Amino acid sequence: MMVEPKVRGFICTTAHAQGCRENVKRQVEYVKSQPKVDGAKKVLVIGASTGYGLASRISSAFACGAATIGVIFDKAASGNRTASAGWYNTAAFEEFSAQDGIYAKTINGDAFSQEIKEQTIELIKKDLGKVDLVVYSLASPRRTTADGTVYSSVLKTTGSPYTNKTIDLRNNAISKTTIPSATEDEIAATVKVMGGEDWKDWMTALKAADAIEDGAMTVAYSYIGPEVTHPMYLNGSIGMAKNHLYKTAEEITREVAGVNAYVSINKALVTQSSSAIPVVPLYISILYKVMKEKGIHEGCIEQMYRLYHERLYAPQLALDEQGLIRIDDWEMRDDVQDEVTALWQSITDDNVKASSDIDGYWEDFYRMFGFEFPNICYSDDIDIDVKIPSIEE
Ligand code: NAD
Repeated sequence: MMVEPKVRGFICTTAHAQGCRENVKRQVEYVKSQPKVDGAKKVLVIGASTGYGLASRISSAFACGAATIGVIFDKAASGNRTASAGWYNTAAFEEFSAQDGIYAKTINGDAFSQEIKEQTIELIKKDLGKVDLVVYSLASPRRTTADGTVYSSVLKTTGSPYTNKTIDLRNNAISKTTIPSATEDEIAATVKVMGGEDWKDWMTALKAADAIEDGAMTVAYSYIGPEVTHPMYLNGSIGMAKNHLYKTAEEITREVAGVNAYVSINKALVTQSSSAIPVVPLYISILYKVMKEKGIHEGCIEQMYRLYHERLYAPQLALDEQGLIRIDDWEMRDDVQDEVTALWQSITDDNVKASSDIDGYWEDFYRMFGFEFPNICYSDDIDIDVKIPSIEE
């Protein structure tokens, strides 16, 4: 059938199989055009189907030549409903890995659950023995714990409500938005979902099963950003969860013998998760303009390749004074932030196109779902029912 984008607010409910394959192909080609990285050999990526997790998996396989096991939470096509973008991405990733003779298998299910942890560990034991890198890249609105309680994360402030500019993604109009403050319960729930508890559960379970190498690394991702985003990110409910993640990194390093845990602070980019955060899409559109003009723009794959090449597997792993890996260094450069601030102050409905890269924002948005690739003919009928080779349905 012919597949068209159906955008609802900040999500697209359809995905184009060939376009998603193209998206993955371009990322694979980028990594293959770069110098190889003498790094990980057997990698577990949790949250591996889109955004930073997918880019980490691609960097592991095609920069390091590593075998990868990915944990994803995606939907196959059913009837006239397309599969999720992450499903098609994963099918393409396995196809390209097989072409290059690189091991790749995928587990589809809720990474927060005990069952998926057990299945994953069983697969590691059977096929790889042990892993030497674990990438934890989950971004989820909710988590169900073993006792059946459902925790929902919120994107709110922790102090007073915060009013600033935002872009309405339905019509590109600039307006003011007020982000309400979270209750104590909402903050606690956000920490439960996006903090480090589940990361530590994974690492403890891998260690207990003897499925992790001595000297292994694990990395999770976070964001810091400039002041304009601080009330709803760094100091917001999500920031509290990320603080918990930082503490968890220290705990894992201390308590899980032979494992070093890090948090990498990544650049703000269009992903399915970041589109949902108020204020951030407008900031990203302005940031894209400034960084593209300076020739230092990066997408997920450029960021993750640089993380592997210049940080994780560099002769010396550079950390900031808080012990964090900083791959947001170009975003946070003074010259970049000064220009972003000036544009932020002057942007209005009348100058959105001139003051931001809103077209670049939308291009990235559509491409996450496999649309807007010039070499794909979107009026063609395509087969939406694509198999992920390692997953039996
Ligand atoms: P994303 O939405 O593209 O990726 C999240 C992944 O988690 C998806 O593949 C999704 O399928 C998977 N997932 C969600 N719930 C799951 C579950 N229960 N079981 C298994 N998989 C599940 O988002 P992203 O932006 O790549 O986020 C990844 C990490 O990077 C997050 O920690 C986020 O805070 C961080 N980060 C993002 C940005 C940004 O601007 N996008 C910047 C810095 C850090």
